[in-house]
Amino acid sequence: MSTTESKTTSETVLTSVNPATGETIATHPIADPEAVAAAVATARTAAATWGALSYPERKRYLLRWSSRLVAVSDELCDLIHAENGKPREDAFLELMLVLEHIAWAAKNAEKVLKTRKVSPGATMANFGASIEYRPLGVVGVIGPWNYPIYTPNGSIAYALAAGNTVVYKPSEYSTSIGNFMAKTFAEANPELPAGVFITVNGYGATGAALVTSGVDKVAFTGSPGTGKRIMAAAADSLTPVLLECGGKDAVIVAADADIKAAADAVAYGATMNSGQTCAGVERVYVDRSIRDQFVAEVKKVLSNVHPGSDAKAAYGPMTMPSQIDVVRRHIDSALKNGGTAVMGGLDSIKGPYIEPVVLLDVEETSEAVTDETFGPTVTIRSVDGIDEAVRLANNSKYFLGSAVFSRKHGVEIARRLRAGATSVNSVLGFAAISALPFGGRRESGIGRIHGAPGLLEFADPHSIAVQRFAIPGMALLSYKRTESTMKLLRRIVPLIHGRHK
Ligand code: NAD
Repeated sequence: MSTTESKTTSETVLTSVNPATGETIATHPIADPEAVAAAVATARTAAATWGALSYPERKRYLLRWSSRLVAVSDELCDLIHAENGKPREDAFLELMLVLEHIAWAAKNAEKVLKTRKVSPGATMANFGASIEYRPLGVVGVIGPWNYPIYTPNGSIAYALAAGNTVVYKPSEYSTSIGNFMAKTFAEANPELPAGVFITVNGYGATGAALVTSGVDKVAFTGSPGTGKRIMAAAADSLTPVLLECGGKDAVIVAADADIKAAADAVAYGATMNSGQTCAGVERVYVDRSIRDQFVAEVKKVLSNVHPGSDAKAAYGPMTMPSQIDVVRRHIDSALKNGGTAVMGGLDSIKGPYIEPVVLLDVEETSEAVTDETFGPTVTIRSVDGIDEAVRLANNSKYFLGSAVFSRKHGVEIARRLRAGATSVNSVLGFAAISALPFGGRRESGIGRIHGAPGLLEFADPHSIAVQRFAIPGMALLSYKRTESTMKLLRRIVPLIHGRHK
């Protein structure tokens, strides 16, 4: 093949590979801006049908999709294992969470988005007032690869339940999985028009084309850098964006914590999915009085935890090869900045697999503490009490998840954390409870997925004010307003608003 031909192929075809073996899994045509525009047009046509359905009708279609996913779960978990690298059991757990979220969104959309009457207030008492929620239209969803079904589904299922159609650009590292999800939706609901939930495939350029394609909202999950580029591109047309970006989640282990339980949860939260979890455990602040016992317990748990692709593997390979360099750089930075590797180190990086790495008392200015590592590593720092732990945990450019281990003061400490979510005496509990919103601020993004706020992200509030009758002499919104009306108002307003002590 000539260089020109190979360049042409790589520009038009995306080849999906198994991260553990490098084997080709599938090829997908790359959508150029014209193909993206065509997909959005198809979704816009479908939105007229989908958006006009009642909530119970949409619920039925969404739940039928769930049942279809259950029916093909073995095939889906095999595909996730092959394309993303994670163990099949982890893939199944991810599917379970997806099903929970589809069910929650389908069953709660009507309750959250139904028309509600509101009080018009004393001076507008002749009006009826209500808020109606309308679908936005077409939502462009751009996803990452680390939780290739769970993460984008936080936008897809909620956008669909709110009456929007979805054009989804899966990550270039999970394209086959993304297409599998859209295919199963169509298989479950053959009577629906094409375009209720469809994909466009490709790299960043395809995502960029989706952002400027005229969609009514962009829901993005990925790195903060890409999130900023998307927001800048969307600014031109004032297209609203929902951004779910990275994290550097802190865990506080208080002096009164159940040390074994905390160590078990930290070991899991730091290394599962090869540490490629936006709300995974990256930093731990443990009370000095229990530090040694805690570290010993973490090491004990992790001594039986190994990556691989076999049935016994606790987690798989790094899905995105370039992330391995980031992990290497962070371990190196930790070791050069006061840290000690009490488990593993630079030689824990073995091809696409990285063994667990535990780093002790790294300086807070090290990249290993300030930036998202996204690998199976964790920093543990001793602190003198909760005030120091809270101060260090909050000293981050991220604002996503967090966890607290304390027998008596868990919720109290949780309330002091600057984060979108906190699990008390567990890690990541908030991400598995559908009714709880998930998301952050600052480098962690804008907006929330999941729960009622996750449905409201995909609906336009439409305020309707109906004048039920005219009050003679009280035409406030008219040039017919009289002097006596103003005299009356000058007496009434102080009575309503001027008596507070
Ligand atoms: P990424 O930013 O590299 O890519 C994400 C998606 O954006 C991909 O589909 C990519 O093709 C697309 N993209 C790239 N450039 C684009 C552009 N200019 N315009 C539009 N789309 C573009 O992120 P990633 O490496 O796939 O994912 C890992 C990151 O995602 C981590 O930072 C992780 O913390 C974060 N993440 C966040 C959450 C959350 O809910 N907060 C969940 C999972 C992952």
